[in-house]
Amino acid sequence: MLSRFGPIIRQSIKIWKAAEKTMGASAKYCKPTPIWHNTNLCMAKKILIFKPWTESGIFNLKDIYNDDGLKPFQILQDEFSIPRSSFSFYLRLRLALKTYGVPWSAKLAPHPLINWIDSSMGSKGSVSKINEQMVVHQYIKMPIENFWERELNTTTDWDTVWKNCFTCSKNPAHQMIHFKLIHKAYTTPWLLCKMNRKQNPFCHLCEGSNQGTYMHMFWYCPRVTLFWSLVQTELSVLMDTVIQREPLLFLLLDDSSLSLSLSQRRILTTALTAAKKVILKLWLEPSIPVMCTWRSYLLDIARLESTTARILGASGKTIQFWRDLIVNLSDKQ
Ligand SMILES: [Zn+2]
Repeated sequence: MLSRFGPIIRQSIKIWKAAEKTMGASAKYCKPTPIWHNTNLCMAKKILIFKPWTESGIFNLKDIYNDDGLKPFQILQDEFSIPRSSFSFYLRLRLALKTYGVPWSAKLAPHPLINWIDSSMGSKGSVSKINEQMVVHQYIKMPIENFWERELNTTTDWDTVWKNCFTCSKNPAHQMIHFKLIHKAYTTPWLLCKMNRKQNPFCHLCEGSNQGTYMHMFWYCPRVTLFWSLVQTELSVLMDTVIQREPLLFLLLDDSSLSLSLSQRRILTTALTAAKKVILKLWLEPSIPVMCTWRSYLLDIARLESTTARILGASGKTIQFWRDLIVNLSDKQ
């Protein structure tokens, strides 16, 4: 069917169809649907074309529809000056609409894609808006997201998780700590055993018969659990609010259920970056004093963030926040 059009029209139709498919927003019959040469609207298996109407300016369904459905012939005649003799065509067209299931006694909806390419919104930002909508519609849940929801037996606000993952620090290395943890990119004793790099799959921290799985090594191991409890206590004091020790918050940074101020969120994510660094170090050096190491890491990260904020020309409020936090943490050392 496309072969009878020129390359520009052909390409435009292809792009339109692809956009419809991506957005899951196809609409066979809507206001912009063409009446003429439309294979989805035939009469006796023949496409429609009726010169007296095209010459009068009727091209799309929106031309012959109003809020009540198909306009009465009289109104069309008044509006477009179509000849009285075309009434029989009007009746045949109405029959065709009914045959194809076009709602001819109800208002036609605009095409779904029109909602986000509405010209009334102006050109500024429209490309970004369209791009964002297409990205959102193409989003497919990652297997790793299913893993966490299965493990934690809860739903997760992944928008918050990914946002906090990449805004927790200006330092990409710190962002990567959270990113790799969420993606299960750290090798646990269980995985090393699977890879034939370790003789047994057991956790070397608790020296029990616990398998060193991902969740055990980051959350359920008694030594790690104790560390998280201590972090929870100190973090609650630092944030001036009671924080619950939950893997959703501590491991995935999902703070969507909390109403945190920007300062509290900064303290939370900085503290959790330091905590994850401590756990990873603990895997390698099981004898380290975890809380001393955590406080030291926390201070180091705060100093780094403070320096970065000044270099990047952050607001005075942000710079002051990091200064105050450094003073607060230094006092606790
Ligand atoms: Zn263990």
